[in-house]
Amino acid sequence: MRVVRQKNGTQAAEACECQFERRRRQLLVRAGIPRRYEHCSLENYKFDGQGIDRSQTMAAQRARQFVDNYPVGTDGQGLLFTGSIGVGKTHLSVGILQALIVEKGVHGLFCDYRELLKEIQNSYNPQVSTTELEILRPVFDAEVLVIDELGAAKPTDWVWDTVAHILNTRYNDKRTTIITTNYADQSPGGTGAANRAMREETLGDRIGERMRSRLAEMCVVVEMTGSDFRRGERRARFA
Ligand code: ADP
Repeated sequence: MRVVRQKNGTQAAEACECQFERRRRQLLVRAGIPRRYEHCSLENYKFDGQGIDRSQTMAAQRARQFVDNYPVGTDGQGLLFTGSIGVGKTHLSVGILQALIVEKGVHGLFCDYRELLKEIQNSYNPQVSTTELEILRPVFDAEVLVIDELGAAKPTDWVWDTVAHILNTRYNDKRTTIITTNYADQSPGGTGAANRAMREETLGDRIGERMRSRLAEMCVVVEMTGSDFRRGERRARFA
């Protein structure tokens, strides 16, 4: 519905409030946020008090600033949240996505890395021996894309090439990508199996140094440390 308003002595038709709200709701549905993370917002992220690490407080501030500055102040750059399981990387990424949709009407998409790899595999058409990139169009086109748990699985070469193609295209088109990973943002630390067994794998080990340095250009790295939030919650519940 359009409403006619008086503006500086002339009449102008504007979209009414309910139309904006309907559009926001559609954008939220289309963002594909899993039910498990629907509750995640920047407002309900606990950023101080017992059990909260300073890096988590800073990450929450970064997330809020990011939303406030988007899109002019962020200029196509995204965020790369790193840290161990349960420190709240996905929570903040989903919180940013929801805030961008609700506050700025952004067309965003949530994408679990393992699911993305499956989708890429399914996009392969054996009849013509090519990948049907059209199927992956939403991932290329989303104004803001969240990729959750990058590096969680190691794909075959051609699947990885497609992931790299998606990330590079988004970078060239100045589209914003927000990434979470459980791996530390460090170079690969040697290739020997024995060497790797002695230490924790890094993001460089999982995605290669070339992609890691590309991500450093695409995203601001936000390192998070601390303990698994769910464990703290469980302890508090049974105390
Ligand atoms: P990660 O992505 O780092 O593994 P998640 O974001 O999935 O961690 O967090 C695990 C669960 O704990 C989620 O349900 C999330 O909402 C909750 N959580 C984590 N950190 C916080 C926090 N600081 N405040 C509120 N909830 C949190």
